[in-house]
Amino acid sequence: MTHIGFATASPDFLKLLLGITLEVAVRYAVFAGLAWLLGYVWFKRGWWKRKIIERMPTSAEVWREIRYSALTLVVFGLVGAATVYASLHGWTRVYRNIGQHGWPWFFASIGLCIVLHDTYFYWTHRLMHHRRLFRWFHRAHHLSTNPSPWASYAFAPPEAVVQAGIFPLVVMLIPIHPLAFVVFMVWQITFNVAGHTGYEFHVPWLMDSWLGKVINTPTNHIMHHEKMRGNYCLYFNVWDRLMGTNHAEYEQRFREVTSRDQRALEPVVAAAVSCNMAAEAEL
Ligand SMILES: [Zn+2]
Ligand SMILES: [Zn+2]
Repeated sequence: MTHIGFATASPDFLKLLLGITLEVAVRYAVFAGLAWLLGYVWFKRGWWKRKIIERMPTSAEVWREIRYSALTLVVFGLVGAATVYASLHGWTRVYRNIGQHGWPWFFASIGLCIVLHDTYFYWTHRLMHHRRLFRWFHRAHHLSTNPSPWASYAFAPPEAVVQAGIFPLVVMLIPIHPLAFVVFMVWQITFNVAGHTGYEFHVPWLMDSWLGKVINTPTNHIMHHEKMRGNYCLYFNVWDRLMGTNHAEYEQRFREVTSRDQRALEPVVAAAVSCNMAAEAEL
């Protein structure tokens, strides 16, 4: 519905607010809801060996996450509507004709948004861990020590304002088409929900390749919730590596979680081997 806001010449701010809030809410409900159905209902048994923390969050914890997320949706709606309002008045770098900058820029602008958001998230996140700020900004998010997909937007309102800060930042700094902004929003919610769902879906050899040093994993963020310290990054693991803030046991934990499939097979293999040996002894 962002495009409706962008397309209207002089929108009533309340209508804009309602539209943007609804858009953000639907996106959150669809992505977090789908992740919940996949990981906590349909494939819970089959995927369990990849559950980073091997227990389910209680329903009280999940409802708390949903309540905080509902507050966040209001904040995101407000900041989002103000951002669209500003762009409609020509106060931002939003452009409406793709031909103005061409398709290469269209895709490059999405990449820039991702890099900018990753950097913004890392540094604001570390700042919110400062002992003077933590309680007011970030404590609510850390009430989830074993998060579910619904923790993706579980922020206290002051933190929600900080998180929403990426909307105005992007449109002030990067010439961006509304559609590119929507793609960026889909990217952010996908990563955010995947990071909070609690299952490690990457291949075991990821950590042995250069890619494992660059991209972030659900194990990284789940450990952040569990341990409270270390692993502050979002999409990439680059800032954590540069600043030496990865948790000391991060790679070890990733390997432990992703090798469980193998270990689960070992008793079966051992049983098959002993069965064969018994059969051979009988011959
Ligand atoms: Zn944190
Ligand atoms: Zn989190």
